[in-house]
Amino acid sequence: MNGVRRIINAYGTNTRLSGGLMAPEVVSAMAEAARSCFEMPDVQAAASRAIVEATGAEAGIVTAGAAAALMLGAAACMARLDPAAMNRLPDTDGLPNEFIVSRSQRNMYDRSLRVAGGRIVEVGIPDRLSGPGVRDASAGEIAEAITPRSAAVFHLAGEAAEPPLEDVVRVAHARGIPVLVDAAAQLPPASNLRRFIEQGADLVCFSGGKAIGGPQASGILAGRQDLVSSALVQMLDLDLPEAQFAAPPEFAPLNQLRFLPHHGIGRVAKVGKEEVAGLIAALRRFLAEDPAARSARWTARLVALRDAVPGAVLVPDGAKPGLPLLELRFADRAAADRAEETLRARDPAVHVDASRLRRGILAVNPIALDDADLPLLAAALRAVAPAA
Ligand SMILES: *Cc1c(COP(=O)(O)O)cnc(C)c1O
Repeated sequence: MNGVRRIINAYGTNTRLSGGLMAPEVVSAMAEAARSCFEMPDVQAAASRAIVEATGAEAGIVTAGAAAALMLGAAACMARLDPAAMNRLPDTDGLPNEFIVSRSQRNMYDRSLRVAGGRIVEVGIPDRLSGPGVRDASAGEIAEAITPRSAAVFHLAGEAAEPPLEDVVRVAHARGIPVLVDAAAQLPPASNLRRFIEQGADLVCFSGGKAIGGPQASGILAGRQDLVSSALVQMLDLDLPEAQFAAPPEFAPLNQLRFLPHHGIGRVAKVGKEEVAGLIAALRRFLAEDPAARSARWTARLVALRDAVPGAVLVPDGAKPGLPLLELRFADRAAADRAEETLRARDPAVHVDASRLRRGILAVNPIALDDADLPLLAAALRAVAPAA
């Protein structure tokens, strides 16, 4: 890119670091899409077919990232298929707008729910994380918080998520409200594409720019056909005579709308045909690759670095099966801090995973690395390695 210093991204698919790299077939799918025009509902219908196949959900759309999928999912849970409500968002007067969430699952991505007009209702005391106890929010506490103002229960997927999704689904469905799941970063394993839907989630979002290897500004919203259709229509402009609009069968509930809403709340998170085409290609590629082969590809990169860097240690990521990391363990945080700064001061700058900095550890994540950069990266790591 002209006039921009490139970096070596050994941190991962972070937004700040421009995400990861796309395979040539993903890039060519985007380039090909850019050379024709389509009707966007047809483009999204193709996405829906690919997402249905990958997730087992009733329907799916490509969004401008998982955060955008969360905003659209929240808008769908509040407005459902009521065009008047769609037109009002983010003003939620008279609409159910509360999202119940286990307090231990709060993070700043749930701003997406508030952007759509949602209000977060926290439940539970996560004292398993704060010393005195072993408990967290219970399904009973979630059930207790459900009122006519509730739009959905929001669940942040993860190994440590409490209460477990199945329990959340049971109490939410018993009271007639949907469950919206943030699974943005829950890949690998690829089996998680189906897992949350199988466990009863009504809507699930995934990031397209993380392990799937799609465009950085893409994501997936998958789930119930009525809710996904609501999300889709809130992303379109619909500047057309109403009689001209006909939704493809993938989004059939839109043909029952009382009238057509205008530019919905999702219009601020517009997704282009290029992102949709890229995401579909990347998703197909992600599913086609044997997980063991993917893991072996990532491991080979780190083994090459480990063999070139004294003291480097190969470890499993822990949370993501099949993802290895390479750790450089320093005497203390100050030493790790200095090494991290030295790496970033290089040209090209080297960004490593600093999430374990407090323990004096810098880590190399293989996902966003270019094999061609391995010799440069090895030299950079060798220059700061603790054992050097
Ligand atoms: C990365 C992430 C998101 C946002 O995903 P984008 O595709 O970058 O919008 C949301 N939630 C969680 C938990 C994430 O890790």
